[in-house]
Amino acid sequence: MGLARLLPRPNVRPAGAASPAGTEVIVLANQKGGVAKTTTTLNLGVAFAEHGHKVLLVDLDPQGNLTMSQGLNPDTIEQSMFDVLVHRLPIEQVIETREVDLAVSSIDLAGADMALSSQIGRERALEKALAPIKDRYDYIFVDTPPSLGLLTINAFVAATGVLVPVQTEYLSLRGLVQLENTLQMVRENLNPRVEIIGILPTMYDRRLTHSREADEILRENFGDLVYNTRIRKTVRYAEAPVKGQSVLSYEPTGEAAAMYRDLAKEVLGGQKSRQHA
Ligand code: ADP
Ligand code: MG
Repeated sequence: MGLARLLPRPNVRPAGAASPAGTEVIVLANQKGGVAKTTTTLNLGVAFAEHGHKVLLVDLDPQGNLTMSQGLNPDTIEQSMFDVLVHRLPIEQVIETREVDLAVSSIDLAGADMALSSQIGRERALEKALAPIKDRYDYIFVDTPPSLGLLTINAFVAATGVLVPVQTEYLSLRGLVQLENTLQMVRENLNPRVEIIGILPTMYDRRLTHSREADEILRENFGDLVYNTRIRKTVRYAEAPVKGQSVLSYEPTGEAAAMYRDLAKEVLGGQKSRQHA
């Protein structure tokens, strides 16, 4: 398989390596749109909360899909992560409590790249915003836009780890190389500890040879970094946000909820082995 050779193995945090105790900031990133970043941010966050963890979600996408998926309307929101990042508004003022706490986005965020670009410390705006409230949470999940621009860089600078949802098809796999190159630049210049903690195959359809092969290529190239849990294709993930709910509350005993609960166990397992190492 030609593509397999194009993908270098990224710099990964070895399983069992020590990680500083405290709040984990997990960034969901992939510069490709429609790979389930937002779906994973919400459902994984809610699954972590079911384990008793205190969870904050941060919507850094100007499209505000995460905000909408908890029943909030980004068009009528007056203050959002834009004001937090650009005008240093305390983040508490944009946190809404729904299934979990959520720092909301609005379309204003589309101007954040430009507004931040002339500021000193432009890459550290999110890290600074989170600092005063970080201790209140065990896990902060950050949903990012489909680009590797300044908003996503801000997320990488604040991150303790990056979780990469990847649609199980060939074209999606190639983007991982570019993502890893960006992370390497962030490691060299801004946040030496940021690393991919896991790759999540999404929209998996076991009936399709293409989907199975893409999953195999991922595992050949990234080994243990790829979660055992695959998120299969089901319409439930599109239905739940329309009701302003996670799949865990929309259909608590359904298969769609079970898959994110499995993922939560797997991610938490990795976290534990690191913290106790
Ligand atoms: P991203 O944030 O990466 O752009 P989304 O989470 O918004 O991706 O997902 C894109 C679309 O696909 C949404 O309509 C979402 O409801 C749907 N979706 C997400 N995960 C799945 C899945 N496993 N099966 C089917 N549809 C999905
Ligand atoms: Mg999204």
